Amino acid sequence: MAMKSKVLVVGGTGYLGKRLVKASLAQGHETYVLHREEIGVDIDKVQMLLSFKQQGARLVPASFSDHQSLVNAVKLVDVVICAISGVHIRSHQILLQLKLVDAIKEAGNVKRFLPSEFGTDPARMENAMEPGRLTFDDKMVVRRAIQEAGIPFTYVSANCFAGYFLGGLCQPGYILPSRDHVRLLGDGDQKAIYVDEDDIATYTIKTIDDPRTLNKTVYIRPPKNILSQREVVQIWEKLIGKELLKSSISKEEFLSSMKEQNYAEQVGLTHYYHVCYEGCLANFEIGDGGEEASKLYPEVKYTSAEDYMKRYL
Ligand code: NDP
Repeated sequence: MAMKSKVLVVGGTGYLGKRLVKASLAQGHETYVLHREEIGVDIDKVQMLLSFKQQGARLVPASFSDHQSLVNAVKLVDVVICAISGVHIRSHQILLQLKLVDAIKEAGNVKRFLPSEFGTDPARMENAMEPGRLTFDDKMVVRRAIQEAGIPFTYVSANCFAGYFLGGLCQPGYILPSRDHVRLLGDGDQKAIYVDEDDIATYTIKTIDDPRTLNKTVYIRPPKNILSQREVVQIWEKLIGKELLKSSISKEEFLSSMKEQNYAEQVGLTHYYHVCYEGCLANFEIGDGGEEASKLYPEVKYTSAEDYMKRYL
């Protein structure tokens, strides 16, 4: 059997990154985690890195301000996975990855790079709305740099993180489901796709040594989790044994109320707009440059939306 690739996770202390570290270790990869000097005395992050070490990961000191440190880090491994921040209400550092791309290019040994994507496929969002389009534009800048440098890649389009979308019954600004009321976006009938964040990490690690995913986009579409907002609400209603009071916000109202919000919130709202009013995640067939994760890896027992939502009971 072929050796399992050695993996470097960049952004390993993040919301998704920590799950990637865990999944990489669980699938038996020699796992390295970048330890950025800049985190200094952030005790939570330092403790998390130490816990990774206790679980068998190796910590690699480096800094995005020190090119040689990045080159040295990527030279240790076969595969680099980056999960650097890319949500404006938290932090958005997508373009910093250009430094990582330079380092991978110079090092010359990396067999695959997975940049920080894990959401909507940015290649399909050339007509996305301002200001949220910046997320997709920046991710495309990184893709172009990867491809111009001739670095082998896999792009993971993970659709909706369940914690945001199932947690909030697809309502922006909410991550816990109400037991009383829900506001539907339009008629609440557009299909979207919700994925448990730990499953995103599991599928991502599955792709890294798989020739079928080389230089491809992998979409994660667990069949039971392709649901409209109304269907998500129904699942929740069944779990709590009660119907919610429903109201609805039209497209026009949604867009005009958006103008009152700050920049970071507007970015998130335009993403919800494309997902919930336009159905941008589920309204296309996967083409030649793509693969679907639950088909490639039927052995993964993914978490259904219903099981995910039981945590909120
Ligand atoms: P986080 O906000 O949790 O940040 C991840 C890591 O980025 C941090 O822990 C840190 O890692 C690193 N980082 C942050 N700031 C800097 C900086 N200034 N310099 C260098 N590194 C920095 O990220 P998420 O997990 O929320 O997002 C990861 C990806 O997932 C993004 O591409 C995002 O767009 C996507 N996403 C998709 C969602 C969806 O619903 N599909 C929802 C949320 C995110 P460390 O300190 O360890 O170096």
